[in-house]
Amino acid sequence: MNKIEHIGIAVKDLEASNELFSKLYGKPPYKSETVESEGVTTSFFDVGPNKIELLEATNPDSPIAKFIAKKGEGIHHIAFDVTDIYAEIARLKEEGFTVLNETPKDGADNKLVAFLHPKSTNGVLIELCQEKPK
Ligand code: ZN
Repeated sequence: MNKIEHIGIAVKDLEASNELFSKLYGKPPYKSETVESEGVTTSFFDVGPNKIELLEATNPDSPIAKFIAKKGEGIHHIAFDVTDIYAEIARLKEEGFTVLNETPKDGADNKLVAFLHPKSTNGVLIELCQEKPK
């Protein structure tokens, strides 16, 4: 695994949170994107070498809606940049981690992504992400 690529924060109201985090970082998000298959609308802030992703549910069945209902707003996942997501998934499975999707899927911000179940990582949802060739 390379660096922390971004930290995902679950929010109830993306518009209000965009405003809040723009004040916090002193700049607006550089992109906003809906990933319908994941039931989320996201926005991304560039903060030094890492990014912050805000996530709002697009429907009540969204994993983000369920997360907020259970735990409230807050840090949802930590994403790590990987060079070869397929190799990394195979390695982590071998090490005994529970990979939620063994085939990487399209995520926001031009990435291939896979998630590790928080039960196998001390309660932290881990995202692996690899930049897709443009
Ligand atoms: Zn993410």
